[in-house]
Amino acid sequence: MRTKFIFTSNTDLRAQIWAWRRSGETTAFVPTMGALHPGHLSLIAKAKRHASKVVASIYVNETQFAKGEDLNTYPRNHEQDCKMLKQAGCDLVYLPKSMYGDHHSTTINVGGPALGLETAHRPHFFAGVALIVTKLFNCVQPDMAIFGEKDYQQLLTIRRMVSDLDMPIQILGAPIVRELDGLAMSSRNQYLDETGRMIAGQLNLILGACAKNIMDGTDIKTASQNAQHDIIKAGFDSVDYVAVADTKSLELLSKKRKGRPARLLIAAHCKGIRLIDNCALN
Ligand code: AMP
Repeated sequence: MRTKFIFTSNTDLRAQIWAWRRSGETTAFVPTMGALHPGHLSLIAKAKRHASKVVASIYVNETQFAKGEDLNTYPRNHEQDCKMLKQAGCDLVYLPKSMYGDHHSTTINVGGPALGLETAHRPHFFAGVALIVTKLFNCVQPDMAIFGEKDYQQLLTIRRMVSDLDMPIQILGAPIVRELDGLAMSSRNQYLDETGRMIAGQLNLILGACAKNIMDGTDIKTASQNAQHDIIKAGFDSVDYVAVADTKSLELLSKKRKGRPARLLIAAHCKGIRLIDNCALN
């Protein structure tokens, strides 16, 4: 009998996952908001290398959007997404219609790596992410879950939460997949018009140049200020941050110390679209 591929009911989903578990399968989980691109598919590929069954979810999570953000216009193309997931070798897609009951009242308060950077500009964001990821983890009950380094602060926030709350799930990171000009792939890139798309391609070049300057000995403050200046000169509307932080704790660093792995992180607005990027400072 052919196994069902798309599940909308939590009860059916659990029955399938437990059936797999009883026959000795391991499960890797890839949560997404859909509008899939090769970046998402690289997570599926990684999941397949680490587990015998791969589960993806598609859900545009309302609790991580603030009023005035793009919840209603976020690109949705579930049919195409499911086809892409099937082709990529995913075993099951969880496509819930809704994740929050009318009387939902529980929140999750995240700290540590969730503080600063994105939170300074989108204070609602990581509480919403932590909530949906926890709920999805409870539905899917995977052995492991894969998150992209594209959303580096998110990856560390989830790792912290899973460790703090004793969730028996291994969290794996996956490298950033980029367009040919270096722009980090993102579902929101499709909002960019032609001019915006050309400008957006500069972000990764500026990130790389800034990383090189810091590695060559320029102090972090000067290198970050220069990068901010270059971003505006390239045509961006504004810069939220250019920052260097500890690779594991995300504590902000004002000096690069030998032997302390660090990450350079950037967020900027291009023609009204918010873009983020980051790289290791090795
Ligand atoms: P999203 O659908 O934007 O919520 O992203 C779902 C997952 O895909 C998250 O773990 C993201 O970090 C990851 N992801 C998004 N874009 C990329 C990319 N360009 N490279 C690698 N992973 C990505």
